Amino acid sequence: DSKEKSKFEGTWRLFKLAVPLDQDPGKDFLEVSDGLLQEIANVLKFPVASLLPREAFTVVRKSFDARKKLKEPKFVHTVDMDVQKLLSVEPRCWDFISRLEPRVGLVECVHDGRDFGDLTSIIGQCKENKDILNEENGRSIFSTELHRNQAIRKPKIAVVGSGPSGLFAALVLAEFGADVTLIERGQPVEKRGRDIGALVVRRILELESNFCFGEGGAGTWSDGKLVTRIGRNSGSVLAVMRTLVQLGAPKQILIDGKPHLGTDRLVPLLRNFRQHLQDLGVTIKFGTRVDDLVIKDGHALGVMISESADKFHLRSQKMECDAVVLAVGHSARDVYEMLLAHNVELVPKDFAVGLRIEHPQELINSIQYAELASEVCHGRGKIPVADYKVANYIEKENLYEASNLGAANRSCYSFCMCPGGQVVLTSTNPSEMCINGMSFSRRASRWANAAVVVTVTTKDFEALNYNGPLAGVEFQREFERQAAMMGGGNFIVPVQKVTDFLENKLSVTSVPPSSYRLGVKAANLHQLFPIHITEALKHSLVTFDKELPGFICNEALLHGVETRTSSPIQIPRNIDSYENTSVKGLYPVGEGAGYAGGIISAAVDGMHAGFAVAKKFSLFHGNV
Ligand code: FAD
Repeated sequence: DSKEKSKFEGTWRLFKLAVPLDQDPGKDFLEVSDGLLQEIANVLKFPVASLLPREAFTVVRKSFDARKKLKEPKFVHTVDMDVQKLLSVEPRCWDFISRLEPRVGLVECVHDGRDFGDLTSIIGQCKENKDILNEENGRSIFSTELHRNQAIRKPKIAVVGSGPSGLFAALVLAEFGADVTLIERGQPVEKRGRDIGALVVRRILELESNFCFGEGGAGTWSDGKLVTRIGRNSGSVLAVMRTLVQLGAPKQILIDGKPHLGTDRLVPLLRNFRQHLQDLGVTIKFGTRVDDLVIKDGHALGVMISESADKFHLRSQKMECDAVVLAVGHSARDVYEMLLAHNVELVPKDFAVGLRIEHPQELINSIQYAELASEVCHGRGKIPVADYKVANYIEKENLYEASNLGAANRSCYSFCMCPGGQVVLTSTNPSEMCINGMSFSRRASRWANAAVVVTVTTKDFEALNYNGPLAGVEFQREFERQAAMMGGGNFIVPVQKVTDFLENKLSVTSVPPSSYRLGVKAANLHQLFPIHITEALKHSLVTFDKELPGFICNEALLHGVETRTSSPIQIPRNIDSYENTSVKGLYPVGEGAGYAGGIISAAVDGMHAGFAVAKKFSLFHGNV
């Protein structure tokens, strides 16, 4: 009867639908293939799969699973089933639907409202006074009532930094009608691309336009991995991902279990983002650096900016505003110093340091996929270019005992793994050497690289006599300078074979090739870090080799140094208002403020900060 039927209305989510590799149609992530339809029929216990209407099913997640314990590799799907659509086309399904038993993680009823749409539509709904409820805790996560008083002056907001956090903060504020100026020390992507080209080809490091600074922030010339640890299905993450799709990212990122874009897709997306912001009335100032805050009676009233008048001259001026969103990333060390000069509280925080390891991609493919490795076909095949994620917890007893520095348990883990990528220079100063990894969307290069890093705490900073709020920055600098010296200058990266690193030796004659374009030089990387960090790295590399047999091999090359895994500092702010605890009207956001790590979490933080600032200026009321 209809009462019974209404119990099953809406959307049902079916998890863990596994389709063997040979029955998967290939790279179309949206397609409900025959193999998938058969799996759905199995769950519903429906006898004839071909009678199920494909249009009633939507793939919401698809991941490749080639774990060794599986008999055969599979694509694993999560699928949403629209019961009404299904019954309208095939009423005979009712008997089977009515017997469905909800089971957490296998078959779940999904309430309406999980999907809030992209950011523009969320804000549109806010403006229509619609409540957008977070299904998990029943709270309104975005908005309730838009302020109706149109007579108030538009608040003037300076957003400093055009990385993911700054872009999303600017977007939200502009959508709510604030007068937003986005200030970026680096260049727009077109010019930034040329500057990066000059760095890679002619060794010219533009101090304000490089792998860290410029439109899109640190993540533009990156691998563009969009994985995040803050809850893939949360309304906030979905809103960010949908906004990226709206701005030109492929729809596949919403479905892929390990979504990534690659630099070639990020660049046009950022151009669209810029255009969209400009259409909303945002003023964007590239090549403009914020050097200081204008603070009066504990309130941020503006910023002091330097614009490049020409290549050699900077023009300095004051820009007044009602609030400053500080989204500068964690390489803007001058900004930390400026904040300290204003007595803004800065809290040193733990992070991780280490080296970047590179292998031939074919080797990682064969470690992960065995005989299937040939199907990767340089990113053109059905299965993804192989990656890995490894972690090791080291009890202090297993670390160097002669030093009490080793007397702490530590974690060592792979970080920012770039399959089919290349090692790149992320220094912002020629006397400091630090590296990271990037890739293009096909991940077709011959190389696989990942950071292997060890956690460090304030105790480690103190042990090297670095104290105070900027101790972590000095700790980073120490190893970046040493790495630059080990490389011998000219952006040459010091490298060491993993086998040599483990044995504290240097086979100078035979350094394996590297993807790093500015040259590598064999060096004693085992002498770079304090001994307990080196011990932790060695212990972990041996453990990783057990998990990924072949990880330690002649071709595996360690590159120095990886120091900027996350911010060494937190700029404290109030939990709900996002306002800095020292200066009113200052909103520290994103990775540089210590509230995010990675593209998506930075974007989400910026987005929430945007809502918080909009709320502060009464552009809307409600919960953020
Ligand atoms: P940022 O992206 O660092 O942006 C800060 C911006 O502020 C910069 O554009 C900078 O120029 C500007 N700025 C700084 N100071 C000033 C000033 N005084 N005045 C004006 N402007 C200023 N994360 C992932 O999730 N996936 C990946 O695959 C990935 N790969 C990476 C690869 C590389 C090579 C690098 C360097 C990082 C990678 N990351 C990746 C990390 C990711 O890029 C960052 O976590 C993210 O960009 C942080 O965003 P943000 O907005 O907080 O800061």
